[in-house]
Amino acid sequence: MLYCPNCDNEYEEGLTACPDCGRPLEAAALEEAENPDIVLVPVYEAPNAYTAELVKGILEGEGIEVMLDGERTAVFDGVLSVESGSWGQVLVKDEDAERSLEIIAAYEKQAASTGGADDTA
Ligand SMILES: [Zn+2]
Repeated sequence: MLYCPNCDNEYEEGLTACPDCGRPLEAAALEEAENPDIVLVPVYEAPNAYTAELVKGILEGEGIEVMLDGERTAVFDGVLSVESGSWGQVLVKDEDAERSLEIIAAYEKQAASTGGADDTA
């Protein structure tokens, strides 16, 4: 996607100058630039957006970068299968996966003993 820095309009690839003002178009910066070197692995399958956000918040509280598959699907107009019965996956970087699993396991144990997140189901 290209945009005109003068008019602030977006244009399709292929144009080199703004049709309105003639100013050279610039490549629009992606809001969330993805680093292709980072490998994301699923650590939790969330039944709904609420649970996904909950787990995300817990992991982020531990300093772990989290990405939600449902969120990513929205951004890329993608291919999430809604027939799977789950909302989407909680993804973390490969290097954080083991710690994330431990944190989630500890959370689920706690939630089960205190009657937490799953009670509303
Ligand atoms: Zn323009």
